[in-house]
Amino acid sequence: MLVFRSIHEYSEWRNGLSGDVSTGFVPTMGFLHAGHISLVKASVKDCKYTVASIFVNPVQFNNKEDLDKYPRDEANDIELLEKAGCDVVFIPSVEEMYPDEVNEKYEFPGLDDVMEGAFRPGHFNGVAIVVSRLFRIIRPDVSYFGKKDYQQYMIVKELARREFSEINIIGIETVREEDGLAMSSRNVRLSEEKREDADMIFQLMKRANNLKVDFSPKEIEAHMTTMLSNAGFEKVEYVCIANGDTLKPLKNWSDTDHARIFVAAWLDNVRLIDNMELI
Ligand code: AMP
Repeated sequence: MLVFRSIHEYSEWRNGLSGDVSTGFVPTMGFLHAGHISLVKASVKDCKYTVASIFVNPVQFNNKEDLDKYPRDEANDIELLEKAGCDVVFIPSVEEMYPDEVNEKYEFPGLDDVMEGAFRPGHFNGVAIVVSRLFRIIRPDVSYFGKKDYQQYMIVKELARREFSEINIIGIETVREEDGLAMSSRNVRLSEEKREDADMIFQLMKRANNLKVDFSPKEIEAHMTTMLSNAGFEKVEYVCIANGDTLKPLKNWSDTDHARIFVAAWLDNVRLIDNMELI
């Protein structure tokens, strides 16, 4: 596997390709786990070349402590990527990605003003900035995003529709730990004791499916918020049942046949997010 740290090195490699150059791209912030690797494997299966990137993007962090504490392990990441069949990893520095002041502004009305967008101001602008820069550098045909970050996946699809119609955006199902907790680089920050309670989000989302028959979306949201607080979650930012195509919060089940439930809650000073389709 090739490791490139500069745009110049990567571009030389990319320009030198000939024949079937179908390229799949998996952007990540590193500290890789099986969730990231499932994206890489999907690309390896679909494309001639697979490129991953590792870049902890400062522009998408609205909380400096979260950025400072973001876990990193480049050597292990490289090993995991190589094992998964990745061909190239691009690991730029902050200076390489942002040599000048960053002042692009992206807006995604309806998609970036709810849930994560409402609780993490500027976050999706930062995501759109880095994803568009990476798309211009990497020039992929296909790019893979996890549905663990479903709202991000929707926003990237909209970004691609506007500016990168040549890139096919594929969403990959969430990979979970055995107890149901969605894999996340941030999970290592949970203490052993609190880790045992963390699967509650998954258990309650599953229960929401059964409650659909008797309760409205708003009733289920309120019930889940109370249950999470009772289970020791310090703060429940949102439990939101929304239309999976538009992210518009649902008033009634009859509003759509594609409902999804979204949760963001703090446990042990770690912000956990998850979501699931309601069927
Ligand atoms: P991150 O490194 O957190 O920015 O994630 C990089 C990519 O991996 C994003 O597209 C995430 O949605 C995806 N991802 C993260 N966790 C998981 C998971 N548990 N299952 C599937 N995809 C994931």
